[in-house]
Amino acid sequence: MLTDDACAAQLRSARLRVTRPRVAVMRAVHAHPHADTDTVLRLTRHEVPDVSQQTVYDVLSALTSAGLIRRIQPTGHVSRYESRIGDNHHHVVCRSCGAIGDVDCAVGAAPCLNASDDHGFVIDEAEVVYWGLCPDCRR
Ligand SMILES: [Zn+2]
Ligand SMILES: [Zn+2]
Repeated sequence: MLTDDACAAQLRSARLRVTRPRVAVMRAVHAHPHADTDTVLRLTRHEVPDVSQQTVYDVLSALTSAGLIRRIQPTGHVSRYESRIGDNHHHVVCRSCGAIGDVDCAVGAAPCLNASDDHGFVIDEAEVVYWGLCPDCRR
């Protein structure tokens, strides 16, 4: 569990003011990887009961822009948030229920996939979504 002090330090390092909603949202995302906005809202209200939905949306967007959390949005599914950032990991997504799992870099280090045509770009990241059915949905 991420402590309040650790949250505050991360917020300060990103030059964000330390507020109770920001700390609560960070703790929620750390404790529940790939949580969607509704889940983050519910968890945040455990700690800050009077927080508004708009505030939580704004905090998620500020934390994402600051690079403290990462937003993933599989096609056809709502946005999810996670605190595992900067390691170029990928995701496996269930087509049926939307369950998400982390998948480490496919081969070696980032970008771990070679583009067949790099168009002259220096590529440092590749993002892959693996689609399929999770064990529960296969039953
Ligand atoms: Zn599923
Ligand atoms: Zn992830």
